[in-house]
Amino acid sequence: MPPRAQTNTLTSNPLDDICPVCKSNRYLNPSLTFLINSECYHTMCTSCVDRLFTSGPAPCPVAGCHKTLRKRGFHTAFFADLNIEREVDVRKRVAAVFNRRQEDFETLHDWNNYLESVEDLVFKIVEGTPAMKKDAEEALKKYAEMNRMEIEANLEAEKEEEEMGRRAQAIADERARKRREMGKKKEEEDRRDLERTKRNVIETLARSEGNADEITRKAERLILEKTEKMKRDQVEDLEGPKMAIRGLKKRKAVEVEKPYDPFGDLDLTPTRYVLQTRYKNDWLKQAENDPRHMVGGYSFQEYYARTMFEAFSGLGVFIEDELQNTTASGAPLAAVAATARSGDKMMEDVF
Ligand SMILES: [Zn+2]
Ligand SMILES: [Zn+2]
Repeated sequence: MPPRAQTNTLTSNPLDDICPVCKSNRYLNPSLTFLINSECYHTMCTSCVDRLFTSGPAPCPVAGCHKTLRKRGFHTAFFADLNIEREVDVRKRVAAVFNRRQEDFETLHDWNNYLESVEDLVFKIVEGTPAMKKDAEEALKKYAEMNRMEIEANLEAEKEEEEMGRRAQAIADERARKRREMGKKKEEEDRRDLERTKRNVIETLARSEGNADEITRKAERLILEKTEKMKRDQVEDLEGPKMAIRGLKKRKAVEVEKPYDPFGDLDLTPTRYVLQTRYKNDWLKQAENDPRHMVGGYSFQEYYARTMFEAFSGLGVFIEDELQNTTASGAPLAAVAATARSGDKMMEDVF
């Protein structure tokens, strides 16, 4: 909600323009200003506040409200909606007590739980029934008493952090100013250099007996080069770092999601043999010509692949090596030793 501008114009709601205490009307008195207090948020005009509370604390003049108010508790409302004004005040009050920081917590989960409990407390004070409000206020007071030292330490740390931030900003500003100054100085020097070159050309032309055309051409090229360089420098200066923001997290590029691999990176391409499309063998020829093997869905290629895989799957596995590799961890060693002793060849079956 945008803050209400402190203008003395009439608002859309006629009730907003009448003081509920003295019934003064902004229509008749354009300089009428309303004040609120953080106790009961009852609005009244400045002259009422002056009249009622200048001589000391007094009860709120609004019927049914028995809060005791002081003159220094009154201020102009920042928000047009007094409910929001009140919630902001409550939040400020709670935040001053519950001022722990994320680094105080072991895990993000704990930090989030803490934030949620604080939010619950705020909700109870702002929206709760009178009983809930009372409980919450008491809890707040108790917490403030029990954790006074920590609250003060956190406040101190907060102030220190602010101070450090201010100092870092001052250093960055100073650097930027120096950079700008140097840029200006360089520009000035370049311009002077260009002037000097032009003057030199004229002098050379006046003195020499050589080819005037050639000298002019050379000079033109030189001047053009220098002008171009000046322009380039200016562009670089414009594009150069104007503002230094530090401490930003490095963003990782989002990895492109790969298609789903049901084998989880398991490579099944044979390394010890090359699968042929056909194998010459009398027995296979018979099988290939068998009409029972020619029906749809039956592939000899699949049969070859499977047979070759099974034939080679035991090769290259040496129990002795496995034993040495697993001596570090006890359990696998025992398991491998057991299989080795019993003579069973336990192969990893991928199917
Ligand atoms: Zn009034
Ligand atoms: Zn009141």
